[in-house]
Amino acid sequence: MKPVTLWSRILIPAIAMAWLYSGVHAADDFASRRAGMVKVIAALTADTSTETGRHALDARVMAAMEQVPRHKFVPPEEEPYAYENRPLPIGYGQTISQPYIVALMTDLMRVKPTDVVLEVGTGSGYQAAILATLARAVYTIEIVEPLGRQAQERLQRLAYKQVETRVGDGYYGWEAHAPYDAIVVTAAASHVPPPLMRQLKPGGRMVIPVGAQFLTQYLLLIEKSDDGTVSTQQILPVRFVPLVAH
Ligand code: SAH
Repeated sequence: MKPVTLWSRILIPAIAMAWLYSGVHAADDFASRRAGMVKVIAALTADTSTETGRHALDARVMAAMEQVPRHKFVPPEEEPYAYENRPLPIGYGQTISQPYIVALMTDLMRVKPTDVVLEVGTGSGYQAAILATLARAVYTIEIVEPLGRQAQERLQRLAYKQVETRVGDGYYGWEAHAPYDAIVVTAAASHVPPPLMRQLKPGGRMVIPVGAQFLTQYLLLIEKSDDGTVSTQQILPVRFVPLVAH
């Protein structure tokens, strides 16, 4: 066999097959790890049902958790841990939240396919991607400029087209697209920001951790009824990075 034939008939196809196989294999590996993460979320939901009042989370939320590639939202050195149920560092002293908490917060928001939602604290963009699989439009604000830019670039690359990002102080919300069907704040505030309360639609839900940085923070579910009255439910003690001001 002539060297050129050996190369083109055997070696190139063999290398291509190996390369293809490794790609498929890696993708399968991440999918199966993601399925494992979803099982852990289901188990934790059952364990915490007395506090949260939920034995299981919405099937659409679980499907979103199974679909969004969390490993593409963490720095390369954290990739091996992407499907463990814990927060991970994303730089600038910030973290991507624990998957169970992301799932619970998303469930509490009761997002419908027609909803317009606001997120305060874009971070890696992971929570925004989860919301994008459930809502019509997602607006997300990040105060740390390089994080905001990275998340925007990442969400575009991964084709989450209905997400719009902005760098700024989310305490004041995003007036231009208000009112929102649901609002989620992914950093702990000392109080519920009044501008966010105003930008919530009657009939809307807000999920927000409230409390001081080193003291107990509680995840709150705030609902604004159609006549504008507000009810607040304390869901679970949590730990979030603080909502900072400019
Ligand atoms: N939702 C993110 C996790 C965010 S951690 C994810 O899925 O990865 C909380 C984020 O809130 C951090 O990135 C922090 O920089 C940001 N943040 C803190 N205070 C803020 C503020 N006032 N406005 C907007 N973002 C804020």
